Amino acid sequence: MLRRAAWPRRTADLRHVRTIDDLVECPGCGLFQRRPPLQAGELAACSRCGQTLEWRRRTSPLQTPLAFCISSCALYLAALASSLMTLDVYGRERTVDLLTGPMELLHEGWGEAGLLVGLVTIAAPAVVIGMMFAILYAASRRQMPDWAPHLLIWYEKMRPWSMIEVYVLGIFVAYTKLTDLAHVDVGPAVYLISALMLTMAATDSTLDTERIWRHRRVDAITRQEDGERVAVSHVHIDEIPLPPVDHLVACPSCGLVGELGAPVSNLRCVGVCPRCGHKVWRRAPDTLARTSAFLLSAVIFYFPANLYPVMTFFKMGGGGGHTIIEGAIELWQDGMIPLSLLVFFASILVPMLKILSLSWMVIGTWRGSSFALVKRTRLFRMVDVIGRWSMIDVFMVSILVAVVRFNSLASVTANAGMVAFASVVVLTLFAAWSFDPRVMWDAAGLNGPSPDGVASAAVRARTGRRTAETDRMEPRQA
Ligand SMILES: [Zn+2]
Ligand SMILES: [Zn+2]
Repeated sequence: MLRRAAWPRRTADLRHVRTIDDLVECPGCGLFQRRPPLQAGELAACSRCGQTLEWRRRTSPLQTPLAFCISSCALYLAALASSLMTLDVYGRERTVDLLTGPMELLHEGWGEAGLLVGLVTIAAPAVVIGMMFAILYAASRRQMPDWAPHLLIWYEKMRPWSMIEVYVLGIFVAYTKLTDLAHVDVGPAVYLISALMLTMAATDSTLDTERIWRHRRVDAITRQEDGERVAVSHVHIDEIPLPPVDHLVACPSCGLVGELGAPVSNLRCVGVCPRCGHKVWRRAPDTLARTSAFLLSAVIFYFPANLYPVMTFFKMGGGGGHTIIEGAIELWQDGMIPLSLLVFFASILVPMLKILSLSWMVIGTWRGSSFALVKRTRLFRMVDVIGRWSMIDVFMVSILVAVVRFNSLASVTANAGMVAFASVVVLTLFAAWSFDPRVMWDAAGLNGPSPDGVASAAVRARTGRRTAETDRMEPRQA
């Protein structure tokens, strides 16, 4: 009662925020839960939707990602300096490197597609590796420098744009198509970027961002969006009963949970996070409107992407345009059945699955449906992860355009279908990023006050085996 008296429900109380240690909000369903103590190799998962909330690595928190980061840097520079492949058509040779594909697309007048390929295969990996070095340096300091949190926020935003792993598959598909035509020599860059794909994935899986955030101090004063100052105090979840859920807000970037003196609106920015400086919204802003707009645009581009040819293949006077489905069928006829299925899955099924499932989520939220919420949340996570793999076809075309340039003997040119297809992929990526799955649970009325107090997140071994602490419910403290 004392606490309530000190926190009357007036908007003026938005000038004070109380951060609550060891309380986390699930980014998948919006359930607030206690952060359980974790041993190395254990992970904490949401007790309601199963989303991983935190994972304690077995490896050294800084040295291991640093070792992988140094390897990535060396592999990246070596790949940039070496050749990707050499094609030999009737004694005439052509050697290409990583830069040739985007440059040829630019020369042919497909500037947007060339820029996109250059961005996700050359610029983004370099930026991501450079940022990781800076983050690891900052995390190794006793007091993390003030620029570091912003860098970590930008790292998480940039990381999905580095699509080395998808590019490796694109090379593989292009190679298979080329072996039909002529003699192909694979250059060292192919092996180097395959290794780069592994070291970049290893850097990410050994970097413990929660741990970095926990070592970062929380400022005593923060500010609202309009610049007004807000005082910050701290409390541990064990010292207080769970505050009303509508007074709680979690930072979308570092996860810090704060309690405000009044209910927090979903429609406006609450202020700036006192730990990382990111703007704090209770839910992603305009999530349904933005997702719907991106989905609608993706649907519009989906038809030309599949009806128009993505490239034209000329071979000794013959050949012609290829749509995406024709490309998959051709691989099938050539006996490359697994590869043909891969192209069919990544280029045709995945964009369709993304559009249909995100539409289902948006419509379900509008209708306040509580049907299959856990499945819908899991489907959203899957859609979010697999969306980038649709770029395989765009990468394949960029490689073929670069390498098959033998005038009347053989040549490949890009077509409008490829730009439409790349637009579908990018628009569905934006649609997934602007969707906040927590609103599905809000709309079904499941993020209201919790009569049972605060639940503890489930603790699991990394292999998926549950431990004794699973689903432990903590009684509400008086
Ligand atoms: Zn959850
Ligand atoms: Zn934050």
